Amino acid sequence: MSLTEKKRVLITGAAGFLGSHLCDRFIKEGYYVIGMDNLITGDLANIQHLFKLENFEFYHHDVSKFVFVPGELHYILHFASPASPIDYLKIPIQTLKVGSLGTHNLLGLARVKKARILVASTSEVYGDPTVHPQTEEYWGNVNPVGPRGVYDEAKRFQEAITMAYHTYHGLETRIIRIFNTYGPRMRLNDGRVLPAFIGQALRGEDLTIFGDGSQTRSFCYVDDLVEGIYRLLLSDYANPVNIGNPSEITIKEFGDEILKLTGSAVKMIMKPLPQDDPKQRQPDITKARQILGWEPKVDRAEGLKRTYDYFKNLPKEELYKSAHRFS
Ligand code: UDP
Repeated sequence: MSLTEKKRVLITGAAGFLGSHLCDRFIKEGYYVIGMDNLITGDLANIQHLFKLENFEFYHHDVSKFVFVPGELHYILHFASPASPIDYLKIPIQTLKVGSLGTHNLLGLARVKKARILVASTSEVYGDPTVHPQTEEYWGNVNPVGPRGVYDEAKRFQEAITMAYHTYHGLETRIIRIFNTYGPRMRLNDGRVLPAFIGQALRGEDLTIFGDGSQTRSFCYVDDLVEGIYRLLLSDYANPVNIGNPSEITIKEFGDEILKLTGSAVKMIMKPLPQDDPKQRQPDITKARQILGWEPKVDRAEGLKRTYDYFKNLPKEELYKSAHRFS
């Protein structure tokens, strides 16, 4: 297929963890991929292998400002956003802007280009959920003025404006609610539990368990998530769909698994639980199963092994980079 015949997809947040895996997948499927990122939390190292390809180009741009892309666009995937609790605590205003103004700009672009747009929403729209597991019909339990409010409310607004463009402008839209996802290219110092634990084990430091470790999460391997996104984009379903792995585990048990995996002799130490930290989280994926024929394929043992291999092989100095980018 010649370059002019390829379907063209814009991926925002292209240099981030999920964005970079999406670039890889769409390149593999034969698309022309236009990556965009302001590199606040993203890292060009995640996509440097794509720069030599003729069906990839990159724009260093902040989507909270007016977005212009020359030429045709068939699909837009909006994955630009800080996505770890530490990130959005440190850069709350940017987090609010990329979910709200950024989404608005991209919806406008989608209209002009007559493109289909998929926006990355999150299980955080359910807040600290009182319904378990979480179905798409649940409206959530979110504290708008708490530390997570900047992310949660930006994503809730994102869903609202996306649905409004669908209803009032007839735009083709897709909304994915992403549950905790892990894999290679997570940032070691982003504060999330998996890179935190693996980084600590590799440095010989004790694992920091927040609270008593009885809170639960359900971790999905990145390749499974990307498959879910791909299927949702190509489906004709405009309402939100949960994508995640329903296998639920407490954070304490997760710490035990990391210690076993890394063969580390460090201990676990308790730290205060951050405000509004959800007590439980597990996706109900009935819709994804029925509508997309999707379910996760990679179990935690396998996914963690692949992820640990990635972190273990990073240059040693990566392990000792300052605790956080914005500290
Ligand atoms: N957590 C922890 N120790 C850490 C980092 C996180 O115990 O060093 C806990 C955190 O309090 C939360 C869970 O692990 O209950 C998952 O946190 P993460 O930041 O990865 O994502 P969240 O699901 O809270 O958005």
